[in-house]
Amino acid sequence: MKNEETTNFIRNIIDEDIKAGKHGGRVHTRFPPEPNGHLHIGHAKAILLNYGIAEDYNGKFNLRFDDTNPEKEEEEYVNAIINDIKWLGCDWEDRLLHASDYFEQMYKYAVQLVKAGKAYVDSQNSEDMRKNRGTVTKMGKDSPFKNRSIEENLNLLEKMKNGEFEEGAHVLRAKIDMASANMLMRDPLMYRIRHAEHYRTGKKWHIYPMYDFAHCLEDSIEGITHSLCSIEFENNRPLYDWFLDQLNVHHPQQIEFARLYLSHTVLSKRKLIELVEGEHVRGWDDPRMPTISGLRRRGYTPDSIRNFCDRIGLAKRQSIVDTALLEFSIREELNKTALRRMAVLDPIKVIIENYPDDLAEEMDAVNNPEDPDAGSRKVPFSKIIYIEREDFMEDPPKKFFRLAPGSEVRLRYAYFIKCEEVVKDEKGNITELRCSYDPQSRGGKSPDGRKVKATLHWVSAKHAIDAEVRLYEHLFTVADLSAVEGDFKEYINPDSLQILTECKLEPSLLNVEKGSRFQFERKGYFCVDTDSAKEKPVFNRTVTLRDEWARLQKRK
Ligand code: ATP
Ligand code: MG
Repeated sequence: MKNEETTNFIRNIIDEDIKAGKHGGRVHTRFPPEPNGHLHIGHAKAILLNYGIAEDYNGKFNLRFDDTNPEKEEEEYVNAIINDIKWLGCDWEDRLLHASDYFEQMYKYAVQLVKAGKAYVDSQNSEDMRKNRGTVTKMGKDSPFKNRSIEENLNLLEKMKNGEFEEGAHVLRAKIDMASANMLMRDPLMYRIRHAEHYRTGKKWHIYPMYDFAHCLEDSIEGITHSLCSIEFENNRPLYDWFLDQLNVHHPQQIEFARLYLSHTVLSKRKLIELVEGEHVRGWDDPRMPTISGLRRRGYTPDSIRNFCDRIGLAKRQSIVDTALLEFSIREELNKTALRRMAVLDPIKVIIENYPDDLAEEMDAVNNPEDPDAGSRKVPFSKIIYIEREDFMEDPPKKFFRLAPGSEVRLRYAYFIKCEEVVKDEKGNITELRCSYDPQSRGGKSPDGRKVKATLHWVSAKHAIDAEVRLYEHLFTVADLSAVEGDFKEYINPDSLQILTECKLEPSLLNVEKGSRFQFERKGYFCVDTDSAKEKPVFNRTVTLRDEWARLQKRK
């Protein structure tokens, strides 16, 4: 069944194909990651698109590791990728596949092309090969080896395969057209010699297929019907068509869509690797990273990422999506689901002088005003509490309605308090505030109709839990990193991580599980970090409460 809301141009093509009986009406998609890095939000877009289509059309979805390059690939990445895709909620059933399993079949196809006079072994050195390839404005020139006999080509290819030559001595090329306007059609490479060890096939192979030869065959071998890929492969399509037509094998329909670009970050594995290896971030899953593992650690849910991808939709044309929309997606979800708690991130001590020394009261606090089923909890109140340092000003400007000498505010769920005295150390720093409370205002209700303009969150000092809280800003200072000159790393935001180690939390946050999410009242949504420990919980701020997306929309 098709979900109308997510209809897009790709689905229109598939609808037409089904109507025309193409591929017997089957729909079979795949996600083909190269295991040379961790997945990012751009990959999530591709994964959810492919999986969503398979699901909606009652089709199949393959996860295939495009592991034809022995040099850069690592098992660590394979496992991380599997974990991330599972977490996104996509199911490949028993079809966890590897391109390296098709090496034998690919080689047979190569031999078939040689036998048909459609491929040849070229022995030019790389410099000559480059020179003879021509340029966009200049035609290429045929290799002097282009007219080798089929027997000689077969013989050389066999020896290449058996490891009888040095790397770079020969390559196998498709025999197409050195004068083609499409540079990719100028006798592209099919195989190169590499005496490298592959993480799955070991030392068996001495030649490895090039991406452009391998990729279309992988889709064909698996019976993929719709090969969805990002727009940069548009120029490769004629080449894929050429290989598949020459071999006369199953021919998937390739459809291109725009890559996701996100503001204030980079979405290229090469650049993400640079950030990790240069220790500009604390690893692949640093909550500032646009990786799926980073987003997960930051507090994003699979649903929020799915909703984000649905919202941005699909287009052929490139555009940059504001990170504020991604943040909107998680804020919207957590507003409905996250339990409210009180946490003071930058505490200042408040002593309520007319409150009994040994009394501790239990105040009723609502768990989630958006969810009546979430109930309420008790929050302890006592003589000494913490409030946020920024909620007090000794010398406030006119519009400052929070606590100031002589002013009165409400403590959420507790009492009205009034600031009577400011205590400072010898350097003049404020160390504590002396206040009085109105016993008649229990629950934060006005006893006589008098109004206060601010409601502050607080934590009882005696009952508080110590915690570390990590606040994040954009990783980069500019929105569009594709437009910057020079090294992208020069635009890293030096203030992207702020660590607060003196935070005070209400006691119901004791023993929270890693990965659980809360709203800290007035401060945003927070998620328990993987570094969290029983002795000292660690929270990441997922997002603030401020809807930056709405503001951007209004400005338009
Ligand atoms: P990167 O540029 O980050 O290295 P890649 O395309 O080389 O990405 P692959 O592992 O080859 O990485 O990607 C697997 C699939 O993910 C490809 O089909 C590719 O089209 C898609 N993909 C990669 N980046 C994006 C993106 N930003 N938006 C949408 N799809 C993407
Ligand atoms: Mg790629």
